Amino acid sequence: MQVRPFSFTGRKIPVIGQGTWQMEQDDRRSCIESLRKGLGAGMNHVDTAELYGSGRVEEIIREALGERRKEIYLVSKVLPQNASRKGTVRACEASLKRLGTGHLDLYLLHWPGDHPLEETIAAFEELKAAGKILAWGVSNFSVEEMEEALSIAGEGKMACNQVLYHLKERAIEHHVIPWCEKHGVAVVAYSPFGSGDFPEENSPGGKVLSEIARARGATPRQVALTFLVREANVFTIPKTAHAGRAIENAKAGDIALSGEEIDRIDAAFPKGKPRPGIPYL
Ligand code: NDP
Repeated sequence: MQVRPFSFTGRKIPVIGQGTWQMEQDDRRSCIESLRKGLGAGMNHVDTAELYGSGRVEEIIREALGERRKEIYLVSKVLPQNASRKGTVRACEASLKRLGTGHLDLYLLHWPGDHPLEETIAAFEELKAAGKILAWGVSNFSVEEMEEALSIAGEGKMACNQVLYHLKERAIEHHVIPWCEKHGVAVVAYSPFGSGDFPEENSPGGKVLSEIARARGATPRQVALTFLVREANVFTIPKTAHAGRAIENAKAGDIALSGEEIDRIDAAFPKGKPRPGIPYL
């Protein structure tokens, strides 16, 4: 598994981590097994949120990985409606309790909301000073919203922006990824398989993925994940409730695509034009 520096945090994390959205709807034992096997295969970046199953997913993570807390890079998120100065601190403490840990490695604002960003950032800094989080970041932020966060916090404070990114949705490549690169902010790609909308094997793009995969003894999903993390500041967090799939996803972190393979995928899944109507792209 390739690991890379995660922005300015001083931490190196795997290019492929583990998502957990909607795990409360899956078989609990299967999720636990999947998270454990995923960790064993090197995916120690574990992403969750107070939103997921209204806290139940954080409890699943505690059960799965609690004893191995030190090994994981644990990330959770505060809901925008809770992200006032006091509300953020309260939400973080509740997440820590459900996760059975004294600190989060990274805490994110799930998406921009109505509470002034100054308040949320002040709460993040307070949590950091108290050792309850080691770093903070944002999610679903446009360039303009990241500019605002930067103007409040200054450089070297916002560790990442977690955003939608998969082969059929490459809009962040226009502005978000370059901006993050310039400001030393990591990009964490969510829904890397399109949340269940992965290209069909017999579609034109699916055929390209299959051909590249076959030639490498890999799977189309591994090829897709590898494409998404081809830039040095991009990481991704596929979710699975199946241990075998977790291992499959983790193995993508061992692959490096050639320039020619990247060009073929790029042509098969065009990134399209910027779409200013979509706020965080
Ligand atoms: P993904 O794009 O990761 O796709 C998940 C789906 O793919 C599930 O149906 C899963 O099925 C299936 N899958 C995973 N691996 C394989 C495999 N190797 N073979 C076949 N099927 C597979 O979707 P998510 O939307 O869950 O995104 C990933 C994570 O990103 C989330 O879990 C969450 O942590 C984060 N996220 C953050 C958001 C934000 O606003 N910040 C928004 C959305 C997601 P199964 O589980 O049955 O194996």
